[in-house]
Amino acid sequence: MDLHLLDDRLASAAEPGFRARQVWEWAARGAGSYQEMTNLPAGLRERLAEEVPFSSLRLVHEALASDGTEKALFETHDGRPVEAVLMRYRDGRRSLCVSSQSGCPLTCTFCATGTMRFGRNLTASEILDQALHFRRKEAVNHAVFMGMGEPLMNLDAVLAACERLPDVGIAHSNTGVSTVGWIPGIERMAEEGPAVRLALSLHAADEALRSELMPVNDRYPLRDVLAACLRWHERRRRQVFVEYLMLEGVNDRYEQAVALAELLEPRRAFKVNLIPYNPTGSGYRGSGRDAIAAFRAALEERGVRATVRLTRGRDIAAACGQLAARREPRPAEDQHEPGRGDGGEALVEERHAVEDGKAWGHIAHE
Ligand code: SAH
Repeated sequence: MDLHLLDDRLASAAEPGFRARQVWEWAARGAGSYQEMTNLPAGLRERLAEEVPFSSLRLVHEALASDGTEKALFETHDGRPVEAVLMRYRDGRRSLCVSSQSGCPLTCTFCATGTMRFGRNLTASEILDQALHFRRKEAVNHAVFMGMGEPLMNLDAVLAACERLPDVGIAHSNTGVSTVGWIPGIERMAEEGPAVRLALSLHAADEALRSELMPVNDRYPLRDVLAACLRWHERRRRQVFVEYLMLEGVNDRYEQAVALAELLEPRRAFKVNLIPYNPTGSGYRGSGRDAIAAFRAALEERGVRATVRLTRGRDIAAACGQLAARREPRPAEDQHEPGRGDGGEALVEERHAVEDGKAWGHIAHE
């Protein structure tokens, strides 16, 4: 819900100061309406139901992947699309992937979000409403800002949302903010805001290749970005997660693993997460399983800790880099690359929200 509007309406109703907190606590624990907030006077509950929409986002579409990953497409009050994803893991982890902007102004060549029109920064309430949507379904315990947008270009709202995530069940240590390397934001995160994790989308160990893949590298070159990350590490005493997308014949050669290892000093400051490429129709091909394993081995031989990211939700275009507010997963020409991990699952269910939110159309695919 729009927490500013809530404060405003509570003030004009001359309600005591603790009411906003009461309302928020109910919402953060997964309440579905003001009616459930039984420690609020009945009259106030009715008034709020009329004056403050329960969510700042309207649910437009939902899809459930065969691996349990669920994607929701929302619209803001001014018609901007926003997507969020819930990943369900066997060990009980429930991880949210939230968006910080509608669309993205950056133009990373491998990412679907960069191909849609940039809308605007989301408010803290619009970020939290993505989390609350899933919290109403079940308890959640992890969150990453890896949906649409560059979170460090909207840092005030992102930090304000992070402050409240523990109330929703997500500790700061289980919250990760992922950036292309937006230096002013990294510097601020070293000094202010809650103790959340930092992830850097690196993808290449040399300046020229990185600029080709991510034009933002011309503005904030990788050497400077890594220096900023090291300052963050020194202040926060946490390792920086380095994300490295594996693109066949582009950045997956042995020498490139060696160059990456040379860059990540001191070792204890970084941990690498190798990301299998998810098809976005960009023309790249993902590295195969063997190439990813060899790249990882080359890093580990040099003392760099490295893991390979599990790919989730690819069959509903909910995986990293695939969020582009499209209702259907589109057939991409790069869909059959060898490294597609555990992809290939069928789309098990799609739901189209309708006005009353009750009737669902179920479409089963083979
Ligand atoms: N703007 C931020 C957060 C959004 S992207 C950032 O770039 O970090 C979240 C992660 O998904 C980033 O590491 C991004 O590089 C990665 N990603 C983008 N496109 C992808 C694709 N097609 N396949 C796999 N990962 C992708």
